[in-house]
Amino acid sequence: MQFSQRVDFIVVGAGIAGLRAAIGLADAGTVLVVTKQQLAESNTQYAQGGIAVAMGGEEDVSLHRKDTIAAGDGIVSSAAAEVLVREGPARVEELLAWGTGFDREGEDLARTLEGAHSRSRILHANGDATGREIGRALLHHARTYKTIQLAEWLTTSELVVRDGRVCGVTVVDENGISHVVMARAVLLASGGAGQVFRDTTNPSVATGDGIAMAWRAGAEIADMEFFQFHPTALSLPGVPCFLLSEALRGEGAYLRNHAGERFMERYHPQLELAPRDVVARAITRESLGRPGESLPVYLDMRHVKGVDLQHRFPGITTFLSQHGLSLASDLIPVRPAAHYLMGGVRTDLDGCASMPGLYAAGETACTGVHGANRLASNSLLEGLVFGARAGEAMRNAPAFAGPEERDAAAEGALGTFSSSPMEQAELRQKMWEKAGLLRDATGLVEMQKWLTEKIDSLPDGTNREGVEARNMHAVASLIVRSSLAREESRGAHFRTDFPARDDTRFQKHSVIRGQAIEFVKTR
Ligand SMILES: Cc1cc2nc3c(=O)[nH]c(=O)nc-3n(C[C@H](O)[C@H](O)[C@H](O)COP(=O)(O)OP(=O)(O)OC[C@H]3O[C@@H](n4cnc5c(N)ncnc54)[C@H](O)[C@@H]3O)c2cc1C
Repeated sequence: MQFSQRVDFIVVGAGIAGLRAAIGLADAGTVLVVTKQQLAESNTQYAQGGIAVAMGGEEDVSLHRKDTIAAGDGIVSSAAAEVLVREGPARVEELLAWGTGFDREGEDLARTLEGAHSRSRILHANGDATGREIGRALLHHARTYKTIQLAEWLTTSELVVRDGRVCGVTVVDENGISHVVMARAVLLASGGAGQVFRDTTNPSVATGDGIAMAWRAGAEIADMEFFQFHPTALSLPGVPCFLLSEALRGEGAYLRNHAGERFMERYHPQLELAPRDVVARAITRESLGRPGESLPVYLDMRHVKGVDLQHRFPGITTFLSQHGLSLASDLIPVRPAAHYLMGGVRTDLDGCASMPGLYAAGETACTGVHGANRLASNSLLEGLVFGARAGEAMRNAPAFAGPEERDAAAEGALGTFSSSPMEQAELRQKMWEKAGLLRDATGLVEMQKWLTEKIDSLPDGTNREGVEARNMHAVASLIVRSSLAREESRGAHFRTDFPARDDTRFQKHSVIRGQAIEFVKTR
């Protein structure tokens, strides 16, 4: 793959946040977008339910802000929520202008309801393939700019830092050859980190690379204890954790336990549309049988009439039918799976991280907009709104003043290295058991000890597998440290040894700098 080794802007990641930022930068200089797999592989591509947006005027915007803040359980940055809901409609209008085919009812955009939303405000496309359609439209639009170079199968391995300023990245190509690319500004839009847990809805690229790189470079990382577990992934032996969108419950699906009882009334007044963490923990509790035994929990749509399930959920119905199941006639076995990371590289409202030259947007970033728990379908909108803002801010990054290209190229001639593979499956299993939905100090300390013991056997990070192993180890360590430090339960973070919310000590964000962790007030 040919790519420039000196550009104005580097964008790591070709999901919604990276592509939106790149489009905003296209008339300000040369932009290199790198993605470690093909362009069509990202969390964005798998987003089913839709994108939440308040296009109905002031009251609608204000309710969306209220819902976002309520879902975040006391620590949403109200400034970030305001930006999200107020700028969202204009960003979605752009998507429409760039050819995104959202579903319609007659002339009007079709809207659905999801958990913890007070109104039907979720736009969707091709039924349950919203992310793919948005990604298609953004990519198509990005390709109209000659200044945007899209480079596939390049794994960013480290940030290049000179005198405290980020001025480039190292990338490893498919042959394991390392290169340096220098730039005025670097945007991390590398998505989430679901792969650090055994069960996840995230694709294989979601290994938290941007967060790990930023942390190693010295940037601030926030709120890593807040990992959202989606309540309803398909639970069939030997079948991947395929997501069964919240929109199914929005359309009326029930949850039933092994005895066939609806059980959500015991957990929350909003029943099946309660916040995700509540539903996920309720399912976990209902599935507890005798020690070592897990009881099935089901999603039930058999009673739902008047919805053309094949038309509304084509991807889900097709996947289920491949496994002999039908939404119309079967109980669908479900279990929670790691889904969305609220924490990440700490940024301001313009995507600026704590180091000059470094920006972050989308799932990799932490603006505080999701607080302790993301409102369903707010993350596509976040990628769009804050991706655009980061692109805008990067335009003002000072002109390139890094080392000469020759120096950079010499540094890039690292060659290939073999790596001793860390037991990634073991890390995922242990993270699931010790730092998953239900946490306590004993398990977290055990996990921390295990991670410390593994440090010496980590690969050197000079091929993709090694880069990912190192990054997953780093991200797991950040999650465990933050989870241990937060001695309360809030949003997606639940400590069985501290089951109550403690606003006196913890109505704050956790911030990690190097080896130090502190709690700081919401900004
Ligand atoms: C199954 C599923 C369903 C979802 N449904 C919804 C929904 O209905 N509504 C909603 O709002 N949200 C949903 N989400 C969440 C949402 O899709 C993501 O939060 C959002 O798309 C993240 O966008 P992003 O641009 O930040 O990252 P991503 O879309 O994940 O893109 C990350 C990019 O970074 C690249 N990358 C990663 N590491 C490197 C590296 N080291 N070097 C180079 N490139 C790298 C990847 O290859 C990829 O191109 C869903 C997520 C999943 C997994």
